[in-house]
Amino acid sequence: MKDFSKILSDWYLKSGRELPWRSTKNPYFIWLSEIILQQTRVEQGLPYYERFIEHFPEIQDLANASQDKILQLWQGLGYYSRARNLHATAKQIVAEYDGVFPNSYEIIHKFKGVGDYTSAAIASFAFGLPYSVVDGNVYRFLSRCFGIATPIDSSQGKKEFAKLAEKLLDKRNSGRHNQAMMEMGAIICKPMNPICMDCPFVVNCIAYNLGEIDQLPVKTKKLKVRTRYLNYLIIHNDTSVVITARKKKDIWQGLFEFPLIESEYDLEVAELVSDERFVAITNGKGILKSSSEQIKHLLSHQKLFARFYWIKVKNLSSFKKYKVVRFDDLVHFGMPQLIVKYLKVHRVKPVKTDQ
Ligand code: SF4
Repeated sequence: MKDFSKILSDWYLKSGRELPWRSTKNPYFIWLSEIILQQTRVEQGLPYYERFIEHFPEIQDLANASQDKILQLWQGLGYYSRARNLHATAKQIVAEYDGVFPNSYEIIHKFKGVGDYTSAAIASFAFGLPYSVVDGNVYRFLSRCFGIATPIDSSQGKKEFAKLAEKLLDKRNSGRHNQAMMEMGAIICKPMNPICMDCPFVVNCIAYNLGEIDQLPVKTKKLKVRTRYLNYLIIHNDTSVVITARKKKDIWQGLFEFPLIESEYDLEVAELVSDERFVAITNGKGILKSSSEQIKHLLSHQKLFARFYWIKVKNLSSFKKYKVVRFDDLVHFGMPQLIVKYLKVHRVKPVKTDQ
């Protein structure tokens, strides 16, 4: 298409959103924003970006922070491996590059949690290097505008879109060009109801002219969603409660939670209390005072059904395997959003009861 990058750039300069990471060339800030925005909408990611910049104004501050602090600030954003990767990479840049963010696509690409898209984004936004980005927004915009029906999740599709994006790239203004491509998909060529009447490509857009907008882009694989049942034991006395860190390579790794019994289906109370894991966790102590309704919590690839069981014990000193913390101090521990929401509704403190 003739003048593609000029049309795109003119539109972006007039209509692109002003976002804090767009007005900086600081590669540390740009990298931070890119990791935060992976699988996250701009509106949701913005306060996290500001919080991280405020707490860690330099990459050295992030490198020197504790993992618990980072996970706590990340709380609610999901995909916690991103926060762990941020920390590992900050440490690596301080140790191996004297705290100076490297201006090489190849080096950036080797950092944890950084793939083709993120390396191209950082390299072009921060250093003006001639790499084109292809994220979900760009796939959608290009597939509609150029009428490409090759599945975007196939290796052939990935190659085809990467090649087209590279061909279209304005190499002298790679950062602005890439921002504009993504912005077009984010605010005009949206997944549902694209605003074609405001689109500068409407005259040339193949999907629009053939009435095929709803059919593009094409994906082959359907996301498999796993269903899990989580039974949380809130073992407590009047002031304190037992928590533990999630160590396994799974969702929420590194976050804190109450002792958990995972089951294949929604357990009856009688089944739960007779489960050998329940007996092992509670040491056969405590009185089950109440249980919550079933709470549904959706992740992009998992459907979680949780129940919380309040178990009151006289003395928490025998729960040596766990961390015993005051209810008031729970706020200092990074916990999954599912638990944070539940505690908010229940105002954290359990009703005081006589045992
Ligand atoms: S005309 Fe509509 S479908 Fe085509 S690129 Fe523009 S917004 Fe997308």
